[in-house]
Amino acid sequence: MASPLMSLGQDDNRYQKSFQLFLERSSEHQCMQDFIHRQLPEILASIGDGKSHLNVIGVGSGAGTIDLEMLSVLRLKHPAVTVDNEVVEPSSQQLHNYRVSVAQKPELDYVKFTWNKMTAGEFEEAWKVKKLTKRADFIHMIQMLYYVKDPGATIGFFQSLLDKNGKLLIILVSGESGWGRLWRTYRHQLCNTEISQCVTTGDIKSFLASTGVSYQSYELPSQMDITECFTEGDEKGELLLDFLTEVLDFSKTASPELRAGVLELLRHPDCSVESDGKVLFNNNLGVIVIDPLC
Ligand code: SAH
Repeated sequence: MASPLMSLGQDDNRYQKSFQLFLERSSEHQCMQDFIHRQLPEILASIGDGKSHLNVIGVGSGAGTIDLEMLSVLRLKHPAVTVDNEVVEPSSQQLHNYRVSVAQKPELDYVKFTWNKMTAGEFEEAWKVKKLTKRADFIHMIQMLYYVKDPGATIGFFQSLLDKNGKLLIILVSGESGWGRLWRTYRHQLCNTEISQCVTTGDIKSFLASTGVSYQSYELPSQMDITECFTEGDEKGELLLDFLTEVLDFSKTASPELRAGVLELLRHPDCSVESDGKVLFNNNLGVIVIDPLC
């Protein structure tokens, strides 16, 4: 059933503002950085099969902060390689921010960037129309599978592009996170199934198990300070609530019952811990690493 509430994704300006605030209030990027420096080096060391040139595809790269961090680890593990990096990102603002960061880093001269201002679905279509046979050594989709129609099909397509020893890295919120709990309870009232969906690494693992694809997985502990959500009328709290519910102007447009129910669940021990007067939402992430089909 279509939700009467408007999706946050329909207002890119407010989405970007709430995403920025989410990054400030959470350890989202820190926990990814820890993973990138602790576990990713070993994963990336195994790709490439000794080649001097590696193909990388980033899907839903945003402003590229995490992508650039991963490229630096790739370089450390394969010091002599050149890299072809396809960036797939539909937001022109984000793509612009990514390009600005790259322009400020002359040390990235070993990487050739190709900017694809498009969705994962459009990229897939273009790839098929051009009948490209190029294979990728490393593909990543970080916090983006919520925005595709059929996450399983998207994984299948990108997995089919992997070269021998290639790796497909997926990061989403963990099924064990507060997000998972919030979505299990309010999925039908909050999530706009046309544009985004409430998918966790728990769902992806079940899907992969059902199709017989093997994978490695990791859990990344992370928290988000949502204290401001509980001060009525607080501007930042409202932005965070929009981000949590993916609903545009949630506080103003949701029914009082829905708003009260969501707020109650958000501070429930299933979703958050309270410490030193702060409400800390469980923002744990899950990482899934998939091998090529062959
Ligand atoms: N990977 C970045 C950004 C995550 S936000 C990070 O972790 O910081 C999700 C990103 O996916 C946004 O930049 C958004 O513009 C992009 N996106 C949204 N729909 C998409 C789609 N259908 N295909 C590819 N990317 C998409």
